[in-house]
Amino acid sequence: MNIWTDPHAWQWLGKAFAANFVREGLYYLVAALLLWLVVHQWLHKRLAHRVIAGWPTSADVRREMAYSFSTLFIFSAQGLVVFASILRGDMVIYFKPGQYGYLWLALSLPAMLLWHDFYFYWTHRLLHSGWLFRRVHGVHHRSRNPSPWAAYAFHPIEALVNSLVTPLALMVAPLHGLVLLAFTIHQIVRNAHGHLSIETMPRGFARHWLGGRFTTTTHHHLHHETAQGNYGLWFTWWDRWMGTERGDYHARFEKVTAGR
Ligand SMILES: [Zn+2]
Ligand SMILES: [Zn+2]
Repeated sequence: MNIWTDPHAWQWLGKAFAANFVREGLYYLVAALLLWLVVHQWLHKRLAHRVIAGWPTSADVRREMAYSFSTLFIFSAQGLVVFASILRGDMVIYFKPGQYGYLWLALSLPAMLLWHDFYFYWTHRLLHSGWLFRRVHGVHHRSRNPSPWAAYAFHPIEALVNSLVTPLALMVAPLHGLVLLAFTIHQIVRNAHGHLSIETMPRGFARHWLGGRFTTTTHHHLHHETAQGNYGLWFTWWDRWMGTERGDYHARFEKVTAGR
């Protein structure tokens, strides 16, 4: 089907957009709702000693939901571009596991995580410069004590930048449908988790030879608190290599995980 000449193109686009919106919305809703219910509601009192600085206010939660809702529109529209590119043969999402070799099947998820981590770190640093911070990324930083609902709380321009991660990857290499699903679930769960305002990892995790390579909620919380340093997404190495890891990260992590 040629989406530009087919008389039913707009109807088709509308349905595809709605399907994208429901799918993206469900991922966000389920991840944020579950973490919010379990950590911020049911375990609210038991985890009080794990609060990094303070609880988010209801105004924070409402604003985070509103911006996340607008981000879902951007992500859904971006999904249409991917659909159209697949129809044109410019991008490939495949479903036969061995179609591009089992080696690529096994490597593609780690490759996507490394690519996303790299892309986010550098675009995030750019978003912290002058006008971009004041007018665009500042929206995300209005939450000093974020909630899981902040996972997609972006200005539309930032949402557009973030939405390019998967299409840029698909421009270079084919991806299996299940790899994309795992990538999406990982990103929304860890993204919502990173905005908990409560540290859930065990004592010693940030200094562990393996654990210390992963960002924690405290890591990203300090970024929200100060808007300086700790720009990384999934791994701590870009901040370490670039000298942008906050000097107080380990002390704050140890303080919040020290126990009652
Ligand atoms: Zn954040
Ligand atoms: Zn930031």
